[in-house]
Amino acid sequence: MNANRDSNLKYDYDLITLGAGSGGVAASRRAAAHGARVAVIEGSRVGGTCVIRGCVPKKLMMYAAQYGDALREAEGYGWSIGASHFDMRRWAAAKAAETARLEGIYRQLLANSGVELIEGWARVVEPHHVAVGKRTLTARHLLIATGAAPVRDSIPGIEHCAVSDDLLDLTDLPECGAVIGSGFIAIEFASILARLGVRVSLFYRSEWPLRGFDDDLRRRAAAALREAGIALHPGAAPNRVVRDGRNLRLEFADGEAHTFAFVLNATGRRPNTAKLGLETLGIALGANGAVPVDARRHTTARGVYAIGDVTDHMNLTPVAIAEGRALADALFSGSTREVDLSLVSSAVFMLPPIATIGPTEAEAAQAGHALKIFESDFRPMRQTFFGGHERSYMKLLVDAKDDRVLGIHMLGADAPEIVQSLAVALACGATKAQFDRTIALHPTAAEEFVLMREPARVVAAQGVS
Ligand code: NDP
Repeated sequence: MNANRDSNLKYDYDLITLGAGSGGVAASRRAAAHGARVAVIEGSRVGGTCVIRGCVPKKLMMYAAQYGDALREAEGYGWSIGASHFDMRRWAAAKAAETARLEGIYRQLLANSGVELIEGWARVVEPHHVAVGKRTLTARHLLIATGAAPVRDSIPGIEHCAVSDDLLDLTDLPECGAVIGSGFIAIEFASILARLGVRVSLFYRSEWPLRGFDDDLRRRAAAALREAGIALHPGAAPNRVVRDGRNLRLEFADGEAHTFAFVLNATGRRPNTAKLGLETLGIALGANGAVPVDARRHTTARGVYAIGDVTDHMNLTPVAIAEGRALADALFSGSTREVDLSLVSSAVFMLPPIATIGPTEAEAAQAGHALKIFESDFRPMRQTFFGGHERSYMKLLVDAKDDRVLGIHMLGADAPEIVQSLAVALACGATKAQFDRTIALHPTAAEEFVLMREPARVVAAQGVS
């Protein structure tokens, strides 16, 4: 239990958390479980980005798109499907009910854990002091878990465009639209919208989408997006967005212009720190407004910590949760456990999805590994049966020196489910020989990962800098 309790009664709370998203809720509940007196302050809805306007509703929209695919494919499997159409209004109502249900669960979890929920926008006014409305609350420890929000100033005029929050709240889908960017959000929504029948044009400044992902995935992602009917415009980010009546005109440096009724600004997110008053604590924010933290999530101000997207280092819900729990354990049970972020899997929920863990081929070679690359590129049984074109691609990076599997990359149906399971093998340091010894589970797509016999190529180490 909390050894410091008696010496800290001069504060209203042992911990005040700013932000009731996934990270803030997890940290607050864990702290309360250790006996700490905890309040969490939230100005918007409990559940944060992931539950209310991110991962969860996005995935529900992806499922809606998958049903469309299934209906189209069903004919090939012997079904006769009558006329069908997607009604965004019905989806939106069901989504609103589901997020409300989940928010209710989050609220209940906080209450059951003994965490006090205070609704309002928080501002730090001096060390240990937080203002919410007319109240000022004090705590020994302050945790900043306020997340991030879409950038609205990346391109002149981009503030006229919709952001992902707006898209998830649409009740009618546009017939056609543009997406600017080629990161997680751009690619997921371009893909989902296209599968729901929207004619999508994707504008991005790089040659391939999804910077930071393995090049073999990036090239295949582009092919899959094109196959889904999306008009790709690589090397083409607008330098201005102009309102033109009810439409938006995207203007490009070469004088070209394209006009759309709907444009999604997916040019990144920025930490929510603008009005937090962190400067009063002497915290110098990073270039993007991020709160700098050390490996234990301590900021430069004593007793002030930050986790999750507000620190802008690995913006994934499970990372924020792991950081929050580790911090609460450290503060209130003396744990010295650090969060191991050396192998974090991630997924892009386009259709078909991408999932990945470990370094890209280029990163591994740069880091001094000589590599054996195993890969498999095929049309899954489900597709071949009805004449579908969707492909699956799987890639293993194996250290040529000690046979350890360093990275797994996949684009194809069920990739996130498959890679999540294989992540355990990687965390255990699995070798290719152990993959080879594993008897396949047949017939599955995942069995390909244990059936890759000969390397497709060998890559020399590129030397360590
Ligand atoms: P990303 O950082 O992934 O992508 C931003 C995109 O915007 C990039 O394609 C970038 O281009 C482009 N961009 C930035 N500035 C400009 C500009 N001025 N003009 C044109 N293009 C520009 O951000 P997202 O908002 O998509 O996602 C934010 C984070 O949220 C992700 O990094 C991820 O961590 C997390 N997330 C995770 C999801 C998941 O786990 N499935 C889903 C959604 C978000 P370039 O590449 O050329 O720099």
